Amino acid sequence: MKKHLSLLFLIITFFASAQNNTTYWQQHVNYKMDVDVDAEKYQYKGTQELVYTNNSPDVLNKVYYHLYYNAFQPNSEMDARLQAIVDPDRRMVNNLGTRENPIYESRIAKLKPNEIGYLKVNSLQQNGNDLKHTTEGTILEVELNTPIQPGEKVTFNMSFEGQLPEHIRRAGRNNEDGVALSMAQWYPKMAEYDFEGWHAHPYIAREFQGVLGNFDVTLHIDREYTVGGTGYLQNPQEVGHGYEDKNQKLKIKKGKKLSWNFIAENVHDFTWAADPNYTHDILVTKSGTELHFLYKNTPEYSKAWKEIQPLTEKALNYFNAAIGKYPWKQYSVIQGGDGGMEYAMCTLISGGKSLNEIAGTVFHEFAHTWFHNILASNESKHSWMDEGFTTYISTLASNKILRGGNDKPNANDYGGYYYAVKNGIEEPLTTHADRFNTNAAFGIGSYGKGSMFVSQLNYIIGAKNVKKMLKKYFEDFKFTHPTPNDAKRVAEKVSGLELDWYLNEWIETTHTIDYAIAKVEDKTITLARVGQMPMPIDVTVTYVDESTENFNIPLRMMRGNKPTTATVLKDWTWAHPTYTFSTSKEIKVVEIDPSQLMADIDRENNTFEKE
Ligand SMILES: [Zn+2]
Repeated sequence: MKKHLSLLFLIITFFASAQNNTTYWQQHVNYKMDVDVDAEKYQYKGTQELVYTNNSPDVLNKVYYHLYYNAFQPNSEMDARLQAIVDPDRRMVNNLGTRENPIYESRIAKLKPNEIGYLKVNSLQQNGNDLKHTTEGTILEVELNTPIQPGEKVTFNMSFEGQLPEHIRRAGRNNEDGVALSMAQWYPKMAEYDFEGWHAHPYIAREFQGVLGNFDVTLHIDREYTVGGTGYLQNPQEVGHGYEDKNQKLKIKKGKKLSWNFIAENVHDFTWAADPNYTHDILVTKSGTELHFLYKNTPEYSKAWKEIQPLTEKALNYFNAAIGKYPWKQYSVIQGGDGGMEYAMCTLISGGKSLNEIAGTVFHEFAHTWFHNILASNESKHSWMDEGFTTYISTLASNKILRGGNDKPNANDYGGYYYAVKNGIEEPLTTHADRFNTNAAFGIGSYGKGSMFVSQLNYIIGAKNVKKMLKKYFEDFKFTHPTPNDAKRVAEKVSGLELDWYLNEWIETTHTIDYAIAKVEDKTITLARVGQMPMPIDVTVTYVDESTENFNIPLRMMRGNKPTTATVLKDWTWAHPTYTFSTSKEIKVVEIDPSQLMADIDRENNTFEKE
C-alpha cells in the first residue's frame, strides 16, 4: 500500500510539473489574397492562400475561420443580442419611441437581401485536397483530412465571396460621413488557437483577436477609388492616388479598374477603406514614420482633418517615448467606420467635423497600435487589457498635447466607475466582452476600470515604477499575446512588490475600496477598512503648527512598500479591520490619499478636521 501511494505521488508530481513546463508559443499565418471588388454592388470575390504554422504542442484535427459579415443578417446572433440587451448601441438601432421612452428596433432585422452582409466560402483545400466545411453563423468549422502535427506548416486554399453590409457597426457601405467602403473584418480569418485552446468566438458585438503573421493582398477596384489601409503599397507608380513617387513617372494601365498590392508584416489583421472622393495627405514625421490621412474632400471635414495631422505626430512621439517605438514605417488615419476603431497600421474614424470631435478619438485609436496590435492580448476575454491600457495612455497624451496638462487627467475614469458601483451595474472584468449584462457595464469596466488598473498602480507601486512598467511590458511582450498575469508580473518585477491580490481584487471581483478615519484622539489616529478590497494607505497629517507629514502604511501582503519620501509605518494586515498609529505633534487635519488615485468609493470618511 505504501509503495503504491508513493508511486501515485510520483506520477501526480510528474504530470503536474510536465504541465507547468510548457513554454510560450503562438501560431503563425501567412495570407495571400487576390480580391476583385464590385464597388457598385458592394460585393467582392477572392482567393485566399493561407500558410498556417502550428507552433503548438498539439495535433489539430479541426480549424475555424471567422466570417464576420454573416453577423449583419436578420436573426443572426448579433441581431438577437441587439434585440435583447437593455441598452443597445445607438448606432445599431432605430428609436421608434421618444428619448425618454425609447422603443428600439434592430437595424439588422430590417436589412433586405441586397443590404445584408455575408461571407461565403465556395471552396477550401488543405495542401491541395478538398475539405469538408460548414458555416455556423459567423464561424466556419473545418474538419481536416489530415491532422496538423506540432511544428507543421500547411497551406489552405480558398475561394470566397462577400457582400459589404449597410453600415451598422464598424464596417459597411456609405458610413455616416458618406465614405463608400469601410472594409474591416471583411475576409475569412483563421481563429486564434493558443494555450487556452480555440477562440472561435461568434461575432456578437465586440472587437476581434487574431493570429500574428503576414499579409499580401491585391485589390482590384474601380480606378476612381482611393484606397487606404493596412500594409505598404507595392506598386505606387501603377496606382497613383497620392502614393506615387512624384519624381518618377506614373505607369498607370488603362481599364476600368486598378490593382493595388499591399504587404503587411507582423500584424493580426488587414483592413482597408476606399472612396472616390478621398483626399490623401502624407506627413513624414521627424522620427521617420509616414502618417497618411485619407478623408472626404468636402469643406465640412477638411479643416479638422488638416488640423489633426501635426497633432497625430505629437501623439506618435508621446507613445514612442512612453511605451516603445512604433515598429512600422507607416500609419494611416482614415475617414470611415463609426466613431473610432483600431486596426493594424491604421484606424477608421468618423464624425469629425471639428478638431475637438476627432482629436481624442485619433489619439485613442492610435494608442491601440501598442495595446492591441503589438501587445495583442485576447480582446474578447480580457477587454480591459487593451481598452484599459489604451485609455490610460491616450488620456495622458490628450491631456498633455490637447489640454496643456492638468492634475488629475484620469478623473473621468474614476467618475464613471463610481457611477457603476453606485448603480449596482458593475461586473467583474473577467466577464467575456460579449456577455456583460449591459453595454454600460462593459464600457465603464473595460475602458474606465481597466484604465484605473494602471492609474491606481501609480498609487500602489509609485509613478516611476508605472513608467518603467509600460516600457518593460512593451519590450518583454511585443508581438505576442500577453495575459493579465503577464502585465501583473511586469509590475511586480519593476517594483519588487507582490501584486497578486491587486489583480485578483480589481479585475476578478467587484469588491470595492473604502477606507475611513475612525477616530482621532490627541496624537493617535485610528483608521478603518470599511470595504473588502485591501490597499496600502497614504495619509497626510497637518499639525496644529501648520506643518504637514505624509505617512505610508504598507499592506502586508505586498511584502514591501513603494518608493516614497513619506514616513513608512508598520504593515497593515488585511484581516484586521482597524489600524492605529501615533504622531509626534498635535493633529489638526488628517486625510487619506490626497492624490485621489485610490478608487475609494466613499471619500466623505477620508478626512478629519479638528474643531
Ligand atoms: Zn479602444
